[in-house]
Amino acid sequence: MPYAAKQHGSTRKARRPRYKRPHKVGHPFYSGKRWRAVRKLALLSDNYTCVKCGDTPRQSRNLHVDHIIPREKNHELEYELDNLQTLCIACHNRKTHGKSRNAFD
Ligand SMILES: [Zn+2]
Repeated sequence: MPYAAKQHGSTRKARRPRYKRPHKVGHPFYSGKRWRAVRKLALLSDNYTCVKCGDTPRQSRNLHVDHIIPREKNHELEYELDNLQTLCIACHNRKTHGKSRNAFD
């Protein structure tokens, strides 16, 4: 049966497509020292809890700190604790991908 042949072929991983992998995910802003510090403060003040659904993921990387007023709209608020809220990934995705309507209340 073609089984053996197939298994043999798949033991070796196919070469990765040659695409450029970004060094770090996202905008340089998000790897900045200042942001990381503010982000942590925001997480702490929200008790590492999603403000939307109350989820408390064990790993803080599963929490996003969201800009209530997007950075593109107001750069002055990008490090403003009052403009930050803790969201789990699901809620954050819902916010960023559901921009239509009153995306966030
Ligand atoms: Zn949530």
